[in-house]
Amino acid sequence: MIEISHVNKWYSPSFQVLKDCTTSVAKGEVVVVCGPSGSGKSTLIKCVNALEPFQDGSITIDGLKVNDSKTNLPKLRSRVGMVFQHFELFPHLKIIDNLCLAQQKVLGRGREEAIAKGRKLLERVGLKEQAEKFPAQLSGGQQQRVAIARALAMDPIAMLFDEPTSALDPEMISEVLDVMVDLAREGMTMMVVTHEMGFARKVAHRVIFMDRGEIVEDAKKDEFFGQPRSERAQQFLSKIL
Ligand code: ADP
Ligand code: MG
Repeated sequence: MIEISHVNKWYSPSFQVLKDCTTSVAKGEVVVVCGPSGSGKSTLIKCVNALEPFQDGSITIDGLKVNDSKTNLPKLRSRVGMVFQHFELFPHLKIIDNLCLAQQKVLGRGREEAIAKGRKLLERVGLKEQAEKFPAQLSGGQQQRVAIARALAMDPIAMLFDEPTSALDPEMISEVLDVMVDLAREGMTMMVVTHEMGFARKVAHRVIFMDRGEIVEDAKKDEFFGQPRSERAQQFLSKIL
C-alpha cells in the first residue's frame, strides 16, 4: 500500500534529514516507527502524505506516485488519513461540523450523508453525545478521538499517526490507544510514530527504528522486542521500556 524507496531529503544543502530511507507498509499492516527526538520520524511520515517535499527517491501510495507533478495531491491526501500530536480541529466549528467539512468540500458528499457518516464515527469513538459541542469544550483525549473520526470520515485507504498521544495527560492516553487498537484489529493499514511500546506489542506487525535520518532497524515485532540487531535500537529500548 505504501512504498518508500531510497528517499533522501535535505532541509538545507548542509542538513540531510532523511538518508536513503526504504521501507513499505502492506495492506492491512500496522507499522510502528520509533526513535530518538530529531531522528526524522515526523519528516518521513509527512513525506508519505506529500506534506513535505523530498529531493530524491520515490514514494507511492496504492500505486500512485507522491512525488509526481501529474498526481492529484489533494485527492491523494484525502485518501490518506493523518492524525497529529496536536489535534488540529477547527476551533470555530462544532464537532459534527469538523467531521463534515472535508466530506462535503473534498468528497462532494451531501450534508445529510456527511452528518450521518459523522455521527456513526462519533459513536464508534465513543463520543456520540459530543456532536454539538465545540473542540475547546472537550478534553484532549476526546479531541484526539474526534481527529481520528474526522480522518476516518474520508474512507481512507491508510492512516498515518504522528505521536498521537504524546501531548495528552497520562489518564487520557489509553482512550486514544484503544480506538487505534480497534482500528488496527479491523485491518486498517497504519503507519504510527509512537513511543507507546504497549501499543506496538499489541498490534504492530513491524517496528521501524530511526536514528539520525536513517532507518536503522526494520524488523518483525517479535524480533524487534526480542533482540534488536543494532546497538542504537537496544540503547533506545532500554531507555523507554
Ligand atoms: P522527529 O519527528 O524524529 O523528532 P523531525 O522529523 O521532526 O524528527 O526532525 C528531524 C530533524 O529535522 C530535526 O533535527 C529537526 O530539527 C529538523 N527539522 C524538522 N523540520 C524542519 C524544517 N521545517 N526545517 C528545517 N529543519 C527541520
Ligand atoms: Mg516528530
